[in-house]
Amino acid sequence: MLRPFLLFLLLAASLSALGDNDILNRANGFLNSSNKSNHFRAYNDYKNLYLRSIMLDDAHLRVKSLKGIVKSGNKLHIDVSEYSNELLSLNTPKLTPVYKPYIPKRKKEIKVTSSHKLKDAGFKDSELVLEFDKELSTKQVNYFTLYDPKKKQFRYVFDIHASMLSESKTLRKDGVKRIKIAQYNPNTLRLVIENTQKIKVGYSQKSKKLIVRIDAEKKNTKAVVLEKKKSIPSRLDRDKTIVIDAGHGGKDPGAVGYRKYREKIVVMQIAKRLKSILKARGYKVHMTRDRDKFVKLSQRTKYANQKDADIFISIHANAVAKKNAGEVHGIECYFLSKSRTSRAKKVAAKENSADLSDMNFYGKQSFLNTISSHNMIASNKLAIDLQRGMLGSLKKSYKNVHDGGVREGPFWVLVGAQMPAVLVEVGFITHPKEAKRLVSGAYQKELANGLANGVERYFANCS
Ligand SMILES: [Zn+2]
Repeated sequence: MLRPFLLFLLLAASLSALGDNDILNRANGFLNSSNKSNHFRAYNDYKNLYLRSIMLDDAHLRVKSLKGIVKSGNKLHIDVSEYSNELLSLNTPKLTPVYKPYIPKRKKEIKVTSSHKLKDAGFKDSELVLEFDKELSTKQVNYFTLYDPKKKQFRYVFDIHASMLSESKTLRKDGVKRIKIAQYNPNTLRLVIENTQKIKVGYSQKSKKLIVRIDAEKKNTKAVVLEKKKSIPSRLDRDKTIVIDAGHGGKDPGAVGYRKYREKIVVMQIAKRLKSILKARGYKVHMTRDRDKFVKLSQRTKYANQKDADIFISIHANAVAKKNAGEVHGIECYFLSKSRTSRAKKVAAKENSADLSDMNFYGKQSFLNTISSHNMIASNKLAIDLQRGMLGSLKKSYKNVHDGGVREGPFWVLVGAQMPAVLVEVGFITHPKEAKRLVSGAYQKELANGLANGVERYFANCS
């Protein structure tokens, strides 16, 4: 009688979406039975709950699910040491028996009080332009330089009395090590340009804009890049395998937006365009799906691993609720991390929903701890190059292309990839103007071209 009962449970889970407490009770039941498959089911349940606890920032659930993972994992002889370490770190004596919400140490939520808001930041030609919603006064911008002799690092810092709407943002420019914009304190937005060599930095203010000129040793870097390219035959340069993943498909339409445009169709079209451009440039390209069919998230990176791909690009389109549809637009690139920022969580939750109950996958993979830091850094670089490629290509022919930035988040479609992997949100299919662009052939072509340029830039910099 056990079997029909289990089937019923699984059915109930997929039909009515059991609450966390129901799943927890179910998992505890599985754990306390003497049946090994039930222990395995418990393990899967606890893992799903653990994911949810991270996405929801639910400390109570997190502790309970971690305890469950450790108990069931031990019964199954699965290495759960990372989970038990995490549990230990959460159970430090400081924590009172009533679980306080877990607050990550590094990323403090900053309450913003400044009235000026950063609307956009990016390179226009060779200048870095920060655009605000209101006119800036000269008093609002404080510029200074720092030099760290130990690290041999020059830092050019702009403190601006303003706030940013999104999380921190990283930009890239040839010849400059790092450019980052982040909220420094409630009143101050900080732009840091960091380099190992001295560079020339100047700036000017024009009404709502702060324009920063960065004069890196372009001649030098260009010469280096050229030399590098010369020394590598172009054939070898493009001897790379790329797996393109068109998001969703089949029974899973993804986001349905303006005029009922469907994400699964749009991203397929873009993916196909990208494939033919990359192939024409000499790369080996494979697609996780080449038609409108359902593919499990877990199968997608598995396929990329099988193909021994050098990079994995998952293409998606974003969406917001109807009431905000007219306002939210823009292009974003995501790479996999354990990030718990609310924005990342929201997007991740949307993209993750397709087959979160895919038991085998979650049983075999211990997802979040499979993220290697090496891969994360490479994925971050790839994301920056893809983002830059798309924007560079689109801004030539289209106005109001919004740079949503490079972000990190817990995307399951990227989990398990043994190569740098990025999830691209090509735009908001819910935004009337952007949706129309997304379905147009000309726009798709520019977008795909930009992605291909980003791929080339990435390979050029990492070879
Ligand atoms: Zn999607």
